[in-house]
Amino acid sequence: MPDLDYLVIAPHPDDAELGAGGAILLLKAQGARVGVLDLTDGEPTPHGSPEIRRRETDAATAVLGLDWRGNLGLRNRSLVADLDARRHLAGALRQVRPRVLFAPYWEDAHPDHVAASGLVDAARFWAKLSKTDLPGQAHYPERIVYYFSVHLRIQPPPSFVLDVTPFHETKMRAVACYRSQFLEGRPATPPTLLDDLRDRGRYWGWAIGAGYGEPFLTREAVGLRGLRDLL
Ligand SMILES: [Zn+2]
Repeated sequence: MPDLDYLVIAPHPDDAELGAGGAILLLKAQGARVGVLDLTDGEPTPHGSPEIRRRETDAATAVLGLDWRGNLGLRNRSLVADLDARRHLAGALRQVRPRVLFAPYWEDAHPDHVAASGLVDAARFWAKLSKTDLPGQAHYPERIVYYFSVHLRIQPPPSFVLDVTPFHETKMRAVACYRSQFLEGRPATPPTLLDDLRDRGRYWGWAIGAGYGEPFLTREAVGLRGLRDLL
C-alpha cells in the first residue's frame, strides 16, 4: 500500500467523483498521491449490480488517474459507525497514511452518508492510538475536509472553493462512468442529473470568478501560508 498525501473516503462508489472529482484531478496534476477508499460496494441499486458497479468504478478510477483505490467492504444501505467499522477504517488509515482526509458532509438524507461522515471523524482519532492491536503504525491525518455529495437540496456555505476549471470536463467523464447510477433509467430530457452537476459546478465557478468550482467545508479554520493563491 502506498503512503498517500490525500485520501477521499466515500460511502458509495461515485460519491468521491461527485463531490471531489475536480479536487482529485487538481491534486494529481500538482504531483500529489491521491487515493479513494469506498466504504461499501454501493449495491443493490435499481439499475446496477456488484459486477456492473465494479466495472464502472474501475473505469472512473482510470479517468481520475488515482494512485490507489480500496473498498472497505462494509454493508451498503446498512452502514453504521460502530466500533467494528471504526476498527476497520482506522486500520486502513494506518496503512495508507494520508496527510489529509476528505469525508462526506455530515448532514444528509442518506443514512449511509451520515454514518460515513461520523465514522471518518472517529476512525481518524483511533488511527493515532498506541497500545492497540490495530495494524500498522500510529498515524493522525492532519486535516479533514468535507465534500458535498448530498441527497438533500442544500448547500451550506463552504469554507473554501477550489477552482477546478481545467479539470471539470474530466470530472464529468469520471462521473459518467457510472452509467447505472446517472444514465440508465433516468430521464434523458434536460436538465438531467449530469446537467444539474455541471450547473452547480458552474455556479461555484461563478462565485469565485472562475469557470468551474468545487465547494468544501472544514470544522476548523483554514490556515494559509500566503495570499498568492487567492483568486
Ligand atoms: Zn452515496
